Amino acid sequence: MIDYSDDVVRESVCQRCGRCCYEKIVDRGVIYYTNIPCPYLDAKTRLCTIYERRQQVRPDCAVISRAIVEMGVLPADCPYVCQEPGYVAPQPAARLPRRWRRLNKRSFRWRTTQQAD
Ligand code: SF4
Ligand code: SF4
Repeated sequence: MIDYSDDVVRESVCQRCGRCCYEKIVDRGVIYYTNIPCPYLDAKTRLCTIYERRQQVRPDCAVISRAIVEMGVLPADCPYVCQEPGYVAPQPAARLPRRWRRLNKRSFRWRTTQQAD
């Protein structure tokens, strides 16, 4: 079990892949991830450009915790969740229901050719 209260332990688990730093959509209880990165993610290095001050600059950036793990927002092979029995990972946005795409086509566009994983 990961000790989330220990910053060093918690940080050492992350593989710095950046895949959790993509926008997500919740539709009827199902979480979908998009290929839209957080504006502070460096697309080449996949590292956060504001990591030390992200809580001030982007307050909705979540620190990994047990609650975040249980929310199901991390990719299935992320080391924080890959050992979790029954873990349900976010779905690709390409699997969003047609109903959702119709309703949101003006405000949100996504490409199906390059997903975040
Ligand atoms: S998906 Fe997991 S391993 Fe990758 S950056 Fe996010 S927390 Fe770290
Ligand atoms: S602020 Fe940094 S760590 Fe947070 S989502 Fe954006 S890129 Fe990722």
